[in-house]
Amino acid sequence: MRIARYTTGDDPAYGIVEGEPGHEVILGLQGDPLYVGIVPGSTTVALEEVRLLAPVIPRSKVIGIGRNYADHAKEMGNEVPEEPLMFLVPNTAVIGPGDPVVMLPQSHEIHYEGELAVVIGKICKDVRIEDAGECVWGYTVTNDVTARDLQTRDKQWSRAKGFDTSKPLGPWIETELDPADLRLTTRLDGEVVQDGTTADLIFGVGALVAYASAAFTLLPGDVILTGTPAGVGPVRAGQRVSVEIEGIGTLENPFVRR
Ligand code: MG
Repeated sequence: MRIARYTTGDDPAYGIVEGEPGHEVILGLQGDPLYVGIVPGSTTVALEEVRLLAPVIPRSKVIGIGRNYADHAKEMGNEVPEEPLMFLVPNTAVIGPGDPVVMLPQSHEIHYEGELAVVIGKICKDVRIEDAGECVWGYTVTNDVTARDLQTRDKQWSRAKGFDTSKPLGPWIETELDPADLRLTTRLDGEVVQDGTTADLIFGVGALVAYASAAFTLLPGDVILTGTPAGVGPVRAGQRVSVEIEGIGTLENPFVRR
């Protein structure tokens, strides 16, 4: 099931996306399905007539994972970590499909990082790897936009990866998906720059949920970013980045300077 958050000009609403590509419709839901479950509403609207919003606003946190693909760790000159390398991102960094990434003025090197994002569905703490699937509500796509120069200069990553608009999420949440081997393709102005598969994750989704929940209580709507494959690189103002993940869809955002 694909769950979208959208607006037709009024308050944000949730709905189920159905139909073939190019002909999708959204079946409206009552309330937030993360809290009230799937309660059908009475509205149906064509996907092309709505504006999609970030499918979830993380209630308490976005947890990022660094260096979780060996080829990306290598291209940055880093070793593969022995344990997942976690960082926290404030929920104010989240934007939706099509929203502009406003490049941080203090940075002169903004990079894209296409990634699979895990949406947590219930409160969980100290989860075992084999039980981690019960905590997952679904999957979406993210671009872990990074101010690479500030990441190096600041030593820790809060500003470089947590600035406003740096975490696009979308286009929707797919709740029925095996994340074990999904092709991930990032395009910069239409040109393929990352072409990986989640089969190459060093720490898989279950391991990440277990590891994160050992440190943090995970709440419904929290999001874990799983890391990026090789091919990261700079974006200039005026360019567009799209991240496509097999079985979910495509997240595209323009980059701007203000
Ligand atoms: Mg990343």
